[in-house]
Amino acid sequence: MCCRLEFGMKASGMRMVTRSWSREPGAGPRGIGEEAAPLGRGEAAAEGRKSHRPMRRQRKAQSLSVAYEASDDEKGEGTELLKVPSWEPQDWQQQLANIRTMRSGKDAPVDQLGAEHCYDPSAPPKNKVKYIKQTSAILQQRYGGDIPASVAELVALPGVGPKMAHLAMAVAWGTVSGIAVDTHVHRIANRLKWTKKVTKSPEETRRALEEWLPRNLWSEINGLLVGFGQQTCLPVRPRCQACLNQAMCPAAHRL
Ligand code: SF4
Repeated sequence: MCCRLEFGMKASGMRMVTRSWSREPGAGPRGIGEEAAPLGRGEAAAEGRKSHRPMRRQRKAQSLSVAYEASDDEKGEGTELLKVPSWEPQDWQQQLANIRTMRSGKDAPVDQLGAEHCYDPSAPPKNKVKYIKQTSAILQQRYGGDIPASVAELVALPGVGPKMAHLAMAVAWGTVSGIAVDTHVHRIANRLKWTKKVTKSPEETRRALEEWLPRNLWSEINGLLVGFGQQTCLPVRPRCQACLNQAMCPAAHRL
């Protein structure tokens, strides 16, 4: 059921696509980049109390599904129009393929860190441990030990920002709600000019990337770029000599 929106898609204008979603019964489909409307803390808690039991049973059955281009005989009921981006970065497909090649060893720190490091006394920063304890208590009290199933409720938890909320939605609920953008993704997207204009914050970068990056790549891009930023495209003195993108990177050897 996982069909891809082709990388080589460059046509402009509107195109008929079919979208299928595995969501809670009675829930309607969401549009590209659409998130649940922000809830107040009280509403978020009430929503979580109402829904945590069925969500837990549904989690294993959920699966990611993405938009794909429909053939003529697939068009009809249940199809919807999605706008193909009018702008996309030059060479992004080759740059992405190169990053995948450089990341094929999956040996960056991001590939190995896990929740077990919460117990590591040397794990910085201390605030993370404090937030994890506070969040654990809230999840126990309000969500029956589960986690909420919307970005709005997740970012209401202590220490949880948009990046972690989108990651949690993808990993825990199988829902691609948005691109998880941290400082690595923010930095690399600007170096490669994957944003139409220079962006000043990870949130601005997230919105800029979501305007053109095919949705079936949203969940992959965070881990890919974070590891690339840890090993090659470092914040200071990036290793451009060892980078497969140096010939097509606007920032190569200028940092
Ligand atoms: S060429 Fe240098 S700046 Fe550009 S992506 Fe590679 S490491 Fe980063």
